[in-house]
Amino acid sequence: MSDCLFCKICEGEIQGDIVFESDDVLAFNDVNPQAPVHIIIIPKKHISTVNDMTDADELVMGKLFSAAKIIASQQEVSEDSYRLVVNCNQKSGQTVFHIHMHMLANRNMTWPPG
Ligand code: 5GP
Ligand code: ZN
Repeated sequence: MSDCLFCKICEGEIQGDIVFESDDVLAFNDVNPQAPVHIIIIPKKHISTVNDMTDADELVMGKLFSAAKIIASQQEVSEDSYRLVVNCNQKSGQTVFHIHMHMLANRNMTWPPG
């Protein structure tokens, strides 16, 4: 998608502070971190929201979790704690309409989230 910020990061058109990359998945540090570790994990394929997923996307969405597991280990937060968040649509807080998972770690978190 030509006007999508995260597609542009995938294509190298906008610089991302990349922490993990595979054939299907990219992960980079959030530009406005909400925790000491705040990483965005995305499929390279453009999918706008969870609502836009098809059955064919189940594999790549599973790969986001596999990437999260690897990244958590690399960030040395696996044994401590981390939170994975996916926002869907505006009221939940979604501002970038390319599906993504947030990884937040290294601070105490509250529940329910605000
Ligand atoms: P959302 O609010 O859509 O769930 O999450 C979007 C996230 O993308 C936000 O946490 C925001 O800080 C981050 N973000 C927005 N623009 C950029 C950017 O240009 N580069 C990076 N690395 N993160 C961004
Ligand atoms: Zn996109």
